[in-house]
Amino acid sequence: MKKLQNVDLPLSSGFQKIYLGLGLVFGVLCIYVMVFKDTSLKDVSFVIFTSLGFLFFSRPGKIKLTNTELTLRSWTGTRTSYLLEDLTWVYPTDDGGAYVYFDDKRIDLGADEPGHKKLRAVFEKIARDKLPYFGYKTPDRNSLVRKQVLGCLECHSLFPKEEIRSWTEVPKSFWQGIKTDLFYPKCLCCGEPWVFANTLDGSPVTLEGIEKLDEILWKDKDGDRYLPFGII
Ligand SMILES: [Zn+2]
Repeated sequence: MKKLQNVDLPLSSGFQKIYLGLGLVFGVLCIYVMVFKDTSLKDVSFVIFTSLGFLFFSRPGKIKLTNTELTLRSWTGTRTSYLLEDLTWVYPTDDGGAYVYFDDKRIDLGADEPGHKKLRAVFEKIARDKLPYFGYKTPDRNSLVRKQVLGCLECHSLFPKEEIRSWTEVPKSFWQGIKTDLFYPKCLCCGEPWVFANTLDGSPVTLEGIEKLDEILWKDKDGDRYLPFGII
């Protein structure tokens, strides 16, 4: 993979501040009762273990991102690594975190993870750099701008919004309880509903992007596509 511009790597997640705080509080409590309450080490052993436990879980580096891979460390210390060259999908979530996919394996960079904002920002940069279909989504008609170019996943044809003749109507009340109908485009060449637009910045869908997207949304033996979070 080529070197990323303006990105400082490696990047690690920081201290879990809540655990760190709890660990320190229990530690101070322990010293306090030993010094002022004349308590033996044995009597406070439970508090010591609790304190050490919190400090253990608070340690930084649970998530580490280098130029080539993302490594996750479990609470037992085992490490799992994913190569950036296997990155297939990045979806920034509404809560400030992100879902990143390596092939079909989803990693949740949750908003409770220390340093999640930086990790998300770097993954967005990587996605722009590496995934030509980053930002592609099946768009609602109202989200499209004038002359926006869309692409069909089934027949790989590209066309501007104005040429679409047929739309699938989906009542919004179906999932949000609001009675505003949504319209999703159907391909003017093959009639399939797998039509995508770049919903991030409205830039035209490219043939390269739609071909790569078709590759990663592989079908299973029943012909159903594997769908990463945020694609529809
Ligand atoms: Zn088509």
